[in-house]
Amino acid sequence: DVLSNKIAAGEVVERPASVVKELVENAIDAGSSVVEIDVEEAGLNKIRIIDNGSGIEEDDVLIAFQRHATSKIKDESDLFRIKTLGFRGEALPSIASVSHLEMITATEEHPGTKVVIDGGKITVHEKAPSRRGTDITISDLFYNTPARLKYMKTIHTELGNITDVVNRLALAHPEVSIRLRHNDRTLLQTNGNGDVRQVLAAIYGVNIAKNMIPISVRSLDFKINGYISMPEITRASRNYVSTMINGRFIKNYALVKAIQEGYHTLLPIGRFPIVLLAIEMDPILVDVNVHPAKLEVRLSKEQELNHLISDAIKTAFKKREL
Ligand code: ADP
Ligand code: MG
Repeated sequence: DVLSNKIAAGEVVERPASVVKELVENAIDAGSSVVEIDVEEAGLNKIRIIDNGSGIEEDDVLIAFQRHATSKIKDESDLFRIKTLGFRGEALPSIASVSHLEMITATEEHPGTKVVIDGGKITVHEKAPSRRGTDITISDLFYNTPARLKYMKTIHTELGNITDVVNRLALAHPEVSIRLRHNDRTLLQTNGNGDVRQVLAAIYGVNIAKNMIPISVRSLDFKINGYISMPEITRASRNYVSTMINGRFIKNYALVKAIQEGYHTLLPIGRFPIVLLAIEMDPILVDVNVHPAKLEVRLSKEQELNHLISDAIKTAFKKREL
């Protein structure tokens, strides 16, 4: 019902960036090769996401807006082997309950469907011929939750959160061409050629990307690939440390410490490298089901992983010095 969706929205959609994250993740989960994101006023006016993914079948459209309706988990054992970005089935109903939402979606086989949902109530549901993919627009986010709206920071801050989210998704998915525009200005454009270095260049600039050192190690349990900036190029914010596990961005303080440790004495206090680490491990070793925003994870064998990371970074620099 509308009320419980609004309550869930309090957790799932904290701010415009959370909406962007959930919707772009859905687009990626749907197998899109091109995702276009347009936001106005840091998403508080409008967020529009157009993808060329699978689309949703006519019969499934309303189901997708029901709470805990996910097409991505079939039974309980899937929960421990999560491959898709989404799995809770909470995003669409939550977002729909706190905004004006309009969606046109079509699959290969079926012509399109259009739905309009105002504050959780479906006001339009009709056939709308369109090409394969999904085009979703969120307007007036939090219009019916004034307390949440009041809590929004400046346009600058909210936009910063959106770019962080989109940059991360672009890094995790170099095979998807992602474009982000804010008030008609392009902030990010990746070409989807699958090369993560190209995404690094799009985000940090060609010069920084060119000078980053590749990292590649594996053990019995882990496979780690990534790029790390030279000690000369550091930042005063941990935000430039990006860590992924099985394609999903995560926050883990111990991992950041392991990365700093890898720099040994080279890293000035309070500085962080620009780094991207993609860690692959058996999904059974990672519990992503800790927080609705899915950033926090619990890891088994965390110590082994941290050692591997700091050693890999040390080795990468040694090689560079030779
Ligand atoms: P979840 O992603 O956790 O499954 P969501 O509420 O985000 O839950 O989405 C509900 C369902 O709607 C998804 O499982 C998927 O089947 C469908 N869906 C949402 N967005 C898209 C999209 N852009 N393309 C195709 N299907 C989508
Ligand atoms: Mg989702």
